[in-house]
Amino acid sequence: MSDIVATNETILVAGGGISGISAALEAAEAGKQVILVEKNAYIGGRVTQLYKYFPKLCHPTCGMEINQRRAKSNPNLTILTMAEVTGISSDKGDYSIKVKLKPRYVNNNCTACGKCSDTVDAEFDSEFNYGLNQRKGAYIAYNNAYPQTYVLDERIIGTDDASKAKDACLADAIDLEIMASLKQTHYVRENIIDGTSDIYYIDIRAIDRFEDFYQ
Ligand code: SF4
Repeated sequence: MSDIVATNETILVAGGGISGISAALEAAEAGKQVILVEKNAYIGGRVTQLYKYFPKLCHPTCGMEINQRRAKSNPNLTILTMAEVTGISSDKGDYSIKVKLKPRYVNNNCTACGKCSDTVDAEFDSEFNYGLNQRKGAYIAYNNAYPQTYVLDERIIGTDDASKAKDACLADAIDLEIMASLKQTHYVRENIIDGTSDIYYIDIRAIDRFEDFYQ
């Protein structure tokens, strides 16, 4: 067994299932800076898909809600959803991690009102329910998902449905343009030392003070 090298550096936890959430919360509550990387649009993993916990027979949302509250109130914890670790390079105690973020097209202004979902026509198999039912092209995986932020399915981007969703959103929460990508890049660089991201674009529509984002 190798010696444990304690450092003050940021901790990255890959996977926001119940184990990852517990590890991330314990470390964040002990004062470490923690980044939790989760590939789904929500944390909680398979536990959130269960019917009831045995033997208490309470719903998983109950236990998850406590963790969500702990996560929400801890400034040491940054959660990146729709994100995957794509590369790790290391020297002892000095790791560089590459994280790939998928676009959600919805920002933190989302109030989870569901108006975008109501207006969108396209439906797709629900990944959360293993394709047993369908969900809209603007959706949240399940009612108590955390974060409480909707997602636009990439398959509706560039269609009338995407425009209808944007028009229906009174919270100015839907980003269909380059600013969404620039914003995510900004977050990556803010939270990950030496973090880089590549954006492929036809034109950049970022005017006035938003020019700072890509300069
Ligand atoms: S994106 Fe807008 S319309 Fe859709 S749920 Fe969020 S706030 Fe409501």
